[in-house]
Amino acid sequence: MSTSTSTSTNNKPVLIAGAGLASLLLAHSLRRSGIPFKIFERDASFVFRAQGYRLRLSSEGLDAIESVLGAETFQRFWEKCGKTGGSGFVSLNAVTGEAIEKGEGLQNALASRGGRVVGISRGDMRKIFADGCEEDIEWAREVTGYELTDDGVRVVFADGTKSVEGSLLVGGEGIRSRVAQQLSGGKLKVYDTGARGIHGQAPRTAFRGLGEGVFMLRDDTRANGAVSVITNVRPDDETDDPDAQFGWTMVGQPGVIRPPNEDYTVVGKQAAEMARSLTRNWYPRFQPLFDRMNEAEAAFWKITCSTPSGVPEWPNEPRVTVIGDAVHSMTPAGGLGANTAVRDSALLGRLLREAGGYKPGVTAAYEKEMRVYASAAVHQSYSTAVRQMGVKIDADTRTVDA
Ligand SMILES: Cc1cc2nc3c(=O)[nH]c(=O)nc-3n(C[C@H](O)[C@H](O)[C@H](O)COP(=O)(O)OP(=O)(O)OC[C@H]3O[C@@H](n4cnc5c(N)ncnc54)[C@H](O)[C@@H]3O)c2cc1C
Repeated sequence: MSTSTSTSTNNKPVLIAGAGLASLLLAHSLRRSGIPFKIFERDASFVFRAQGYRLRLSSEGLDAIESVLGAETFQRFWEKCGKTGGSGFVSLNAVTGEAIEKGEGLQNALASRGGRVVGISRGDMRKIFADGCEEDIEWAREVTGYELTDDGVRVVFADGTKSVEGSLLVGGEGIRSRVAQQLSGGKLKVYDTGARGIHGQAPRTAFRGLGEGVFMLRDDTRANGAVSVITNVRPDDETDDPDAQFGWTMVGQPGVIRPPNEDYTVVGKQAAEMARSLTRNWYPRFQPLFDRMNEAEAAFWKITCSTPSGVPEWPNEPRVTVIGDAVHSMTPAGGLGANTAVRDSALLGRLLREAGGYKPGVTAAYEKEMRVYASAAVHQSYSTAVRQMGVKIDADTRTVDA
């Protein structure tokens, strides 16, 4: 490539589809490297819909985030994280309140820094990642595909318009990514496992009866399958921000949670009532989590997973790639989705920085490395979900439409 072509290419922004965790962390990395970018997000703003669930962060996830944010912003991020050591991870019978499993193995599996389990709300994480990038986000822009040009790429939107020409397009629009569909020629598949979930929030005082730690409450009393709830990381620092809310994530084996319709519109009161009815016979100590729910934040959730054997191969297109759930959707088992997504952002951001912006070869190098750790994560998450949630993906399993 001639110098003049390279210069003109590198003045064009990197186009990013979606303003989720993976996209925003990549944008943060590009901003720090002085590489121009533009983000196109379907939602109208950051607070368009409930997004308060908490994410548990692994050592790999934290390392990736730290490598992008730098010392000062990472410190701010770290302060926002809940951390717990103490009783660690405890599995309880949801109906009797008795301990099912409590062991160092589980605690060690979840612990990241300093032997502590670390968590943060998705909203806080997004806010910090978006720092300094806000003016480069275009809201209410639904990406439906892309078009390659002689010397770049343009995003195509649902209203038929196209973006400015970019040097590279990164699809980070989550499980229904149209960029992923187009890029892989349909090889990137997302399956509907049939398991369903609800995530909810309640004031932190509602969790007091549980004590410090991360709790898995499991109800095996139904003939058609188990329901379990995993709570946020609950530290013992009651004095810090008494208005804060904690969350929990409920998962029902296929067929147990039956929402009135099969899309994502079951939110708020309807989702909250569903969660209450499923937990009515639960041990009194756990009831405040559901009785005192912030109904507005409750949301139904379809549990999906990419091809369990891992991220498939497709012919590399130097100017288009995919990150996060768009390329590797995972079940909640193991809490690996966001942790893998942030690794993508850190890796691609670093390769672009080292290349001084878009260069042929960058996306191929990124995809080669990403396929290894992301395939392992999808496989691990799926295998755990087979055991914990009774899911099974086979030739008859429905895919999620993009
Ligand atoms: C209840 C729950 C609990 C979870 N707990 C954990 C956990 O503990 N640990 C963990 O590691 N992971 C966890 N995950 C998974 C984690 O949330 C995801 O892996 C992570 O959010 C993926 O980030 P992403 O940026 O790829 O996608 P997303 O965060 O889904 O972002 C995608 C963005 O793209 C936008 N978008 C979608 N379509 C379009 C379009 N056509 N055009 C433009 N924009 C579009 C969306 O509005 C969104 O802003 C959990 C998930 C859920 C639902």
